[in-house]
Amino acid sequence: MSRDALTKIILPEDKIPKYWYNVQADMPNPLDPPLNPRTGEPATPDDLLPIFPMGLIEQEVSQERYIEIPQEVREIYRLWRPSPLYRAHRLEKALDTPCRIYYKYEGVSPVGSHKLNSAIAQAFFNKIAGIKRLTTETGAGQWGTALALACRVFGLDCTVYMVKVSYEQKPYRRSIMETYGATCLASPTDRTASGRAVLERDPDTPGTLAIAISEAVEDAASRDDTNYSLGSVLNHVCLHQTVIGQEVKLQLEMVDEYPDVVIGCCGGGSNFSGIALPFIPDKLAGTNVRLIAVEPAACPTLTKGVFAYDYGDQAGFTPLLKMYTLGHDFTPPGIHAGGLRYHGDSPLISRLYHDGLLEARAVFQKNVFEAAVLFAQTEGILPAPESAHAIRAAVDEALAGKEEGVSRCIVFNLSGHGHLDISAYDSYLNGRIEDVEFSDEALAESLKTLPQV
Ligand SMILES: *Cc1c(COP(=O)(O)O)cnc(C)c1O
Repeated sequence: MSRDALTKIILPEDKIPKYWYNVQADMPNPLDPPLNPRTGEPATPDDLLPIFPMGLIEQEVSQERYIEIPQEVREIYRLWRPSPLYRAHRLEKALDTPCRIYYKYEGVSPVGSHKLNSAIAQAFFNKIAGIKRLTTETGAGQWGTALALACRVFGLDCTVYMVKVSYEQKPYRRSIMETYGATCLASPTDRTASGRAVLERDPDTPGTLAIAISEAVEDAASRDDTNYSLGSVLNHVCLHQTVIGQEVKLQLEMVDEYPDVVIGCCGGGSNFSGIALPFIPDKLAGTNVRLIAVEPAACPTLTKGVFAYDYGDQAGFTPLLKMYTLGHDFTPPGIHAGGLRYHGDSPLISRLYHDGLLEARAVFQKNVFEAAVLFAQTEGILPAPESAHAIRAAVDEALAGKEEGVSRCIVFNLSGHGHLDISAYDSYLNGRIEDVEFSDEALAESLKTLPQV
C-alpha cells in the first residue's frame, strides 16, 4: 500500500498485543529499588501488599521481557483496540513541511484517553485477588473516570479523591465517574488524617495530586477489602500502556515506515512509556530513533528537576522512588493540562532519560494551545490539553524538517480528546490563557524537603 494514499491505518482485532513489553529486561542500568519510607531499606513485596495485589507487585519488579495479557483483559481491550494510527495529511499541508506526521489516537477508548489500558488491567488483578473496593486519586479526572469504568466492569466499588481545583473546575468529570457508579470526593477531604492535616495548615488549598494520593493510600491501607490504584508513574502502569507502541510499530510497517522521532506528552510518564518504550530495544540495537517526552514549562520535572529518591505523595506514605522530581511538597501552578501537574516522574522514564536514551523538552501553555487549535482545524479532533503538548513538539519537529529541507517520519501519541476541556479552549480563544512563570525559588524551597537517603 502506498504510504501517501492512506489516512487511517487500522489493524485487525487479532493484532491486539498478546503481551505487554517490559523494558526492565533491556535497560542498560537497572532501576534503583523503591525504599520503605520508614526504614529507608529496599521495600519488599510485603511492604506493598497492604495496598496492591500480588499480580501487580510481580509486574512491578519483573525482569521478564514479555508479560502475557490475560484473556479477560484482552477481551475488554477489544472495545476500542487496536486504536487507529492516522497520517496527518492536512496538518502537514498547513505546515508546508516535507515531513510525514502520524498520530496514534487513544481518544477512541470509551473514556476518551489511554488511561483505560491500565485501569482495566489493574481492576482485573485486584478482582482475582479477592479485593472488593479500590481507591485512587485523580487530577484532571481522566484517571478517575477510567478506573470508575474498570471497577464497574469487574464489579468493584470505587472511591476517587479528586484534586479540589479540578473538582470545582470540571464538575462534569465527577458526573461521569458517578454515572459509572464511583464515589468522587474533593481532596483534601476531612475523612483522612492526611487530608485534615493539610486543611489545618491551608484551608483554601487548591489541592495537589500528591495530597490526593496520600488520602487514597491512607484509605486503602486502613481497610482489608480495599486496595489502592495509581494511574501513572509505577512500572506496572507503564507496562500496561505498551500496547500502544507495539500497535504503532505494526501500523507503521503496514505503510513501510519507521519513525525518526517518537513523541509523547509526559506527566507521570505512562502514555509516553506506552508509545516510546517498545522502541528502546531498536535504539539499543543501534537504530537512530529519537524518543521525546514533552512536559509543561510550569511543571518541568525532567528538564528542571533532580534525579533523587522522593515520596510519590505529599504526606510521605508511599515508598521512596528514585525519579526526577521537583520535590513532593511542590505545588505546580494551576495550568489547564491538569494531568501533567505531578511533581515526579516514572522511575523507568527517569532512569532511561538519565542514561541518555530519551530526550525531554518543556513547552509553554500558549504555544501548546496554538498547536492544539491548528490541529483541530486541520485534523478535526479537539485534543486534550495534555496531548496538545505532544502536538506542539511534533509541529516544531516538522517545522525544523522544513527549515533543514529533510523529510522525517514523526509519530506522536494523541493520548486523549479534549471534549471535557472545552472551558480551557474557551479561555484560550478569549485571550485568558497565561504562560505561568516557573519559580526557581519555589523549586529550591521544595527540594529542601527531599528525604535524606
Ligand atoms: C493523564 C493523562 C496524561 C498524563 O499522564 P501520563 O501518565 O504522563 O500519560 C496525558 N494525556 C492524557 C489524555 C491524560 O489523561
